[in-house]
Amino acid sequence: MIYLLKKPGTWEKLKILGSTARFDVCGVPSLIKYKGKKFQRFKFIYPAVGKRGFVRLFKVLQTNFCEGNCYYCANRKDRNFIRINFSPEELARLFINYYRRGLVDGLFLSSAIYGSPTRSQEETFKTIWLVRKKYGYRGYIHYKVLPGSDEALIEKCTDLVDRLSINLEAPSPNYLEKLSPTKNFSDELLSGLIKISRINRERPLRAGITTQLVVGAAGESDKDIIGFSYSLYRKYNLWRVYYSGFMPIEDTPLEDVPPCPPLREFRLYQADFLLRGYGFKVEEMPFEKNGNLPRDKDPKLAWALSHPEKFPVEINKADYWELLRVPGIGRISAKRIVKMRRENKITSLEELRGTGAVVKRARNFITINGKFYPLEKRDNNTRSSQLFLWEEI
Ligand code: SF4
Repeated sequence: MIYLLKKPGTWEKLKILGSTARFDVCGVPSLIKYKGKKFQRFKFIYPAVGKRGFVRLFKVLQTNFCEGNCYYCANRKDRNFIRINFSPEELARLFINYYRRGLVDGLFLSSAIYGSPTRSQEETFKTIWLVRKKYGYRGYIHYKVLPGSDEALIEKCTDLVDRLSINLEAPSPNYLEKLSPTKNFSDELLSGLIKISRINRERPLRAGITTQLVVGAAGESDKDIIGFSYSLYRKYNLWRVYYSGFMPIEDTPLEDVPPCPPLREFRLYQADFLLRGYGFKVEEMPFEKNGNLPRDKDPKLAWALSHPEKFPVEINKADYWELLRVPGIGRISAKRIVKMRRENKITSLEELRGTGAVVKRARNFITINGKFYPLEKRDNNTRSSQLFLWEEI
């Protein structure tokens, strides 16, 4: 049923369509705050990280009318709430207004499915076309592809956007069935990802392609998720898989399912980083018997503690990949260590600290010139500052 009592104004539309767009993740685990900075004055302004630092994305749906009926979604067809949409011109003008006033740095545009995927995709296409061609905007656009929409239309978008993404939602058809009666895993979602992967291979997008998985609503384990993400990275050259911790929404079939703890989402991002940048394989992840990652320590520390035979690592001899396995040593500090010791050996914890390594975490796992500097009690802090999770948008 659709309620529309009076014609909402642009501001009202923005509040509603910006608020429901928040379920599309484009860069930030919910646990993390950026040094107390207030980035998110409104729900439609979303903080993310670009190559030149933090950016504010104007994140909004073109419409919340939807033919889909996903069990977890605020926009599902059977849910009673206000349905509205932006015209392409209205939304393009609105975004440009925010951009020119210096309130946002980029656009993230998505949509529910109004009529058909192709019809909705045409509306979002018109919006980004106007933003680029009529208003001359040259900044960042993350553009959401709707499963089942016309391939030629997606091809046309490629010159206008920096990033394409399509949400796979679940790590297998069985899990997807628990999330949606209207989505088809292979024919719509995966084949959509394959399409944008091909497009990205033929005409590389500046910010690549991404996807998103809902976490914690379908009973999937972290092992299911990480194993699936790993296969996606290998096959489709994804820039990122985003993990969207499930939040129950009133008046949906999953309203009584508990929310995904933010720490679970955080650990998944950490494990994902280990796969993409640290040379870890899925089978090395320290999953517990239930298939989930430990919550009380980060996955790299958990791996190190369960592999005492790999430690201590000699800072002046270990290669880059061995250094990366040391808790407290990240990619930047490992590179600096390798560079520094070409000139002179590293001789102290102070010098090691100078590379950016987190010495209090690393010292139990290393020697420096054969000398061991353990802390009496290992520092098993649950929050790792080493695997910093803000990354490129
Ligand atoms: S298709 Fe499903 S997930 Fe997408 S907006 Fe509609 S109900 Fe929500």
